[in-house]
Amino acid sequence: MIKKLFGFLYQYISFRSLRSRIFLMILLVGIIPSILMRQGIMRNYEERAVEQRTLTVQNQLKIVADHLLNEDYLNSPSSNVISAELDMLSNLYDGRVLIINGNFKIIKDTYGISEGKTIISEEVIKCFLGESVAKYDAENGYIEMTTPIVDNKSNETVTDAEGNVTEGSAGASKVKGVMLTSMSNSYIVGTMEVLSRKAIILETIMIIIIVGIAFILSGILSGPFERVTKAINEVQAGYSNEPISVPDLAETVHIVDAFNQLLQRMKVLDDSRQEFVSNVSHELKTPLTSMKVLADSLLMQDNAPAELYREFLEDIVSEIDRENRIITDLLALVKMDKTTSELNITAVDINELAELILKRLRPIARKLDVEVVFESIRPVIAEVDEVKMTLIMSNLVENAIKYNKEHGWVKVVVDADHQYFTFEVSDSGIGIPEESLTQIYERFYRVDKSHSREIGGTGLGLAISKNAVLAHRGFITVTSTEGEGSCFLVKIPLNYIAQ
Ligand code: ADP
Repeated sequence: MIKKLFGFLYQYISFRSLRSRIFLMILLVGIIPSILMRQGIMRNYEERAVEQRTLTVQNQLKIVADHLLNEDYLNSPSSNVISAELDMLSNLYDGRVLIINGNFKIIKDTYGISEGKTIISEEVIKCFLGESVAKYDAENGYIEMTTPIVDNKSNETVTDAEGNVTEGSAGASKVKGVMLTSMSNSYIVGTMEVLSRKAIILETIMIIIIVGIAFILSGILSGPFERVTKAINEVQAGYSNEPISVPDLAETVHIVDAFNQLLQRMKVLDDSRQEFVSNVSHELKTPLTSMKVLADSLLMQDNAPAELYREFLEDIVSEIDRENRIITDLLALVKMDKTTSELNITAVDINELAELILKRLRPIARKLDVEVVFESIRPVIAEVDEVKMTLIMSNLVENAIKYNKEHGWVKVVVDADHQYFTFEVSDSGIGIPEESLTQIYERFYRVDKSHSREIGGTGLGLAISKNAVLAHRGFITVTSTEGEGSCFLVKIPLNYIAQ
């Protein structure tokens, strides 16, 4: 249980599961914009607040500047009213006001420490030239601004060389003094702190909600995959053998379809394996049953003549031979299944091999009064497994001899083109009914069971041959007319194609 929990947590933390990835995605999509939005709003507020504050103070300073001029404060800074006004202003905005006259001399400092000193700074000079500056230093926490003290009444008229008269503008000549103000931004910082606290509380609530939504949504979205896994596990554990159905997402439907097809294929394989096992048992039991019947009947007779013993024993020997043949064929088939990829490929003279096989089978043909003809169209050397090729050729020729008629014939033709060689076996035998043509390669299939048994067939020869042909990446085809004969054609690549 703990191991399972750790496994789940590990998958979550390492983001290897679909669920954790969906979770992360929703989380990022939800949280990043909210953080960016908070920061954007705060910065915007700060800019707006500084702007507003500067504007308000500037307006107040302009009024004071007018008063200054009226009272001629720049020339005789003794007016208590003005001083009080300036002190009030600096108290109100938690700042410091310096009044600088035309000689860059500080005539009033609300802090009272710099009076009488000279100040020549860039901002002050610029202000004398008519440009008032406002500067915000967020790091040190103050706003600094310069306000020109402009005398609007002293309109001077200038006459230029051509005699044009222009009225003096509010230019540099009219700036009589400068007010240099710096004030603390503590008010703005305070408001921002309150705002930021509220925003963080809101953001935390939002993050909790987003985490909850992400957790639920990731569970919902990855749910179908978990259900597919559960259904597959149930099949794998053997609780069910039926096709599964998880009709949620198109993706899971595809997985389920593929799995069901695999299940179907496995079922077919399982069925064929069961059928094969029952066929094998049946085939192996038949000779044993015959032997038991023969032996029992001998035992039941007290004084059975020696000839009867001999006859029955000969029958028993032939049943033993049959049992042996079935086991040999079965072993060949099993070996073929196992070693399809383990062929022992060598360059084999196909004509020579065919002649050797025919030489071995001619005595049987002679016994059944069947003529065997061999025709070699051209010399063929091919890359094949000689043992398996021998199995293919001898099974086909043996069948053609076995399922023939009296005075019949068998014709074997070896030919080749630039890619394949062909091995063709035609006969004048009993033929194969059309409906059986597709089944003759199945293990233990025989058109006429008793006839095949009579002539010693096991029903495995063509299954072995087909497997061997396929292992060489070749083809086997058959054409047949009942009562007239059959023709088997094997086509195999001259050069072995590795799988
Ligand atoms: P068997 O050991 O019975 O010959 P095979 O797998 O070699 O088994 O052949 C399967 C069945 O196909 C045979 O039982 C027979 O009915 C049919 N058959 C195979 N070759 C021929 C042929 N040349 N002519 C007629 N029937 C054939």
